[in-house]
Amino acid sequence: MTEQASPRTAPLMGMELSDMEAAIEGRYPKFRAKQIFDALYAKRQLDLKEASALPAALRKEFPTGALTEHSRFDSEDGTVRYLLSLEDGKTVESVFMPERGRDTLCISSQVGCPVDCKFCLTALMGLERNLTAGEIVGQVLHIAAKHHLDPHDRQMNIVMMGQGEPLMNLDAVLKATRLLVDPAGIGMTEKRITVSTSGLIPKIEELGQSPIRPKLAISLNASTEEQRVELMPITKKWHLKDLIAVCQAYPLRSWETLTFEYVLLRGVNDSDADARRVRKLVANIKCKVNLIALNPGPGIPFETPDPERVLSFQEIVRAGVPCFIRKPRGLDIYAACGQLKQMTEHSGLYSIHE
Ligand code: SAH
Ligand code: SF4
Repeated sequence: MTEQASPRTAPLMGMELSDMEAAIEGRYPKFRAKQIFDALYAKRQLDLKEASALPAALRKEFPTGALTEHSRFDSEDGTVRYLLSLEDGKTVESVFMPERGRDTLCISSQVGCPVDCKFCLTALMGLERNLTAGEIVGQVLHIAAKHHLDPHDRQMNIVMMGQGEPLMNLDAVLKATRLLVDPAGIGMTEKRITVSTSGLIPKIEELGQSPIRPKLAISLNASTEEQRVELMPITKKWHLKDLIAVCQAYPLRSWETLTFEYVLLRGVNDSDADARRVRKLVANIKCKVNLIALNPGPGIPFETPDPERVLSFQEIVRAGVPCFIRKPRGLDIYAACGQLKQMTEHSGLYSIHE
């Protein structure tokens, strides 16, 4: 089944092989679908004009649905933030973070986000819409093409930590994941794809039941129920206590470790007592904790803790579970965690792209 209304002219990007077979049925022989699949995902020919094995009529008839670049912003640290245009004129953000031997692509799952976390710039956008599986995969293929990346490369990672709450768009996220890991197509492994959630309990359970799924990261961000309600009001519905219980029961694969992310806000959730509570909360889960010192932004009513505070917090958590400090990337171009709000540059200053 395709997600689009008209399979004949629907973009190919995001279609599984069976969708492609349905799209060409009655017009072209079935084996052409396999060739389209191969051209788009294995050879990553984002314009079918390059796919010389296909008949000219077919190449013209079906748009690939590749995303187009609205703008790109290059950070001093090598990070690149892309603002990519979607078919309906909306834009979405994706970030490329090169690191020696290990590149990370941070991609979006929604335009904006409906979850109103108080420290996150994306929250200020609200939700515009879900992305399709094609638009999720399209971000990966766009960045891979721009930076000559080979998704088979064991060093390439994808994190679904851009705009949006991925588990509110779980069907598209899972379909995109299947396409990313299909050995006949893009050919990544599930070990290299991570999805991050603010904690939608039933969707975490559903994710755990999916045979092909990314690794799971949970945005913890608080050490008590009350604190989390203040920072992440979604906690009123999905309590911290139950979130931890669902993490304890989560069916991790043998090679998998759960990740907890914790944004440190000066004087709010960064005390030694918070660190001890975090250590206790995650104590009997096979996990690691990633600390992120708040990335500031206009309209965010919190401050970043001093580096020494971050180190002390890490020391305490590390006595129980592995704990790392996530280095901010692309701060100068609004590309760091929680900063994705479609900022565009005007005369050296960043303002919101409408
Ligand atoms: N919506 C999903 C994924 C996108 S947010 C989620 O919340 O998990 C990706 C990460 O950025 C989350 O861990 C979130 O807690 C963190 N984050 C949000 N705002 C931030 C900010 N201003 N500074 C640092 N990290 C932030
Ligand atoms: Fe949405 Fe994640 Fe930002 Fe919360 S932290 S508003 S869930 S993008």
